[in-house]
Amino acid sequence: MTSRRAFLQAMGKAGGYSAVYLSMQALGMLSIPRAFAGVPALPAGSGKGKSVVILGAGIAGLTAGYELLKAGYSITILEARNRIGGRVWTVRGGDRIIQEGREDQVCQFDTGLYMNAGAARLPTEHHGIFHYARELNVPLEVMVNVNRSAAVDSNKEIISQRQAVNDTRGYIGELLTKSIDRGALDGELTATDKERLRAYLTDWGALSKSGTYEGSDRSGYRQSPGGYGNPGEKLSPLSLEQLMAHGSWGEPALFEEIFDQQAPMFQPVGGMDRIAYAIYAKVKPHVRLNKTVSGVASSDHGVTITLDKAAPITADYCLCTLPANYVAKLKHDFSAAKTASLANAYYAPSAKVAWESPRFWEQEGVFGGLSWTDEPNTLVWYPSGGWGSSKGILMGAYSFGQRPNSKAFTHMPHAERFAISRDVIERIHPGMSKLLGKPVTVAWNETPFSGGVGCAWTEDQRKTDYLELCKPEGRVFFAGEHLSYVPFWQEGAILSGYEAIKLLRERAASDRVTA
Ligand SMILES: Cc1cc2nc3c(=O)[nH]c(=O)nc-3n(C[C@H](O)[C@H](O)[C@H](O)COP(=O)(O)OP(=O)(O)OC[C@H]3O[C@@H](n4cnc5c(N)ncnc54)[C@H](O)[C@@H]3O)c2cc1C
Repeated sequence: MTSRRAFLQAMGKAGGYSAVYLSMQALGMLSIPRAFAGVPALPAGSGKGKSVVILGAGIAGLTAGYELLKAGYSITILEARNRIGGRVWTVRGGDRIIQEGREDQVCQFDTGLYMNAGAARLPTEHHGIFHYARELNVPLEVMVNVNRSAAVDSNKEIISQRQAVNDTRGYIGELLTKSIDRGALDGELTATDKERLRAYLTDWGALSKSGTYEGSDRSGYRQSPGGYGNPGEKLSPLSLEQLMAHGSWGEPALFEEIFDQQAPMFQPVGGMDRIAYAIYAKVKPHVRLNKTVSGVASSDHGVTITLDKAAPITADYCLCTLPANYVAKLKHDFSAAKTASLANAYYAPSAKVAWESPRFWEQEGVFGGLSWTDEPNTLVWYPSGGWGSSKGILMGAYSFGQRPNSKAFTHMPHAERFAISRDVIERIHPGMSKLLGKPVTVAWNETPFSGGVGCAWTEDQRKTDYLELCKPEGRVFFAGEHLSYVPFWQEGAILSGYEAIKLLRERAASDRVTA
């Protein structure tokens, strides 16, 4: 029988650190620290006789509304758009894409195909969003977030991620081994530890017995191995100089080490909005679409919400889940400190481009994952799901301002975004760009009622503006991804909503006692 240890070693060899980590979780060998302590315990009926108006039908407003409804509150959710979901936006054929200062686009994708213009992946550490998928029976499928068969494009030169990662690792292993052999680490390590580390590096870097890196089949083959007399021919290693000149070679190697960017992730079958719509189905009679909120006022007795082109609404409490940059636009009587902090909230730009295409990448052995480029479009993202079907949606750009050129991408004319994306895809998959069609693009900085991908707090702001915006104003409570330490994710929106409804419940309970 395979021991757990042997099994984990095998997993490590096959899938790296992430695979081991996930397997250890699955075997119950890791205690997972959880920010998700479950849904706040609001006793059934505790909200009876109390009304809450919720601003925004994004994931924060929907989940908080759903929980308040379960506890007996009377809720009304006001949403400016003609759809729910906010930054969870799955674009399908026939959908209109409205961008400030641009001509509208109407998506022409075939039935069944979609682009997740906003949220697209679910890390398994995000227990809140998984909770709703489970509770509401939303089917999930694996989303491949890292794929060594994908490419790295730098200085217009393409190498496979497999080669970028493994050749780099080989040379680092060799350099460290040389340091050990030349005594450079004698002060740090005992003789036994040096031996152990040397053995580890030999395995880790696929080094020769003498500690040199001479290439490895981990980096792939020039000619794949076959039957009978065909052992295949492995690729010659690139030199360290070539790798370093390539520039972006570190990015793909490290991407999956980001806590919430693990290699295997999940996505709802049929589009990310499936979870938001499952929650919507539970609160739909209480949601009013096409209602733009223009003002909020709180008094000792309740709140009054003013709307563009509709009568004001009153309630006992308000839960405001609008992005801070849109709260700032409201007419309100908030404190001077709150007003100043709202003005300081910076929303990062971000743009995606999607193409409909026959799935040529799968013919080349690329099933899911991301190819990275130093061009302004930043990456090419292959679809997970619909494997082997005739067409798919290829995300030809996902740029979020991490480099000056990717920031510039989010402000470019659409035609320029499409041209850059097409060129990079052509370089990675020669001869295939002619198959790309029906492009659409969404820049969140140009998307009304969002104004950016998410709120980018600085460390200093976390001690000032962030704390200020978490505070209620009279009977108005606040939530949204920007009021969490999981920003830029649905999870942050959910968890901030939980904090807000706990405060709201305390306030409602104390109001009852006073009454
Ligand atoms: C490009 C991109 C990629 C992302 N990738 C992921 C991912 O892979 N996984 C993940 O989990 N998350 C991801 N996110 C983040 C996630 O989508 C957001 O953090 C989350 O959806 C925010 O939810 P929210 O309820 O806080 O805000 P929103 O979704 O912005 O909801 C706020 C709502 O308020 C409405 N509103 C605004 N102003 C008014 C007004 N005046 N009157 C009435 N209504 C108004 C808006 O229309 C909106 O519906 C991504 C986001 C983007 C944009």
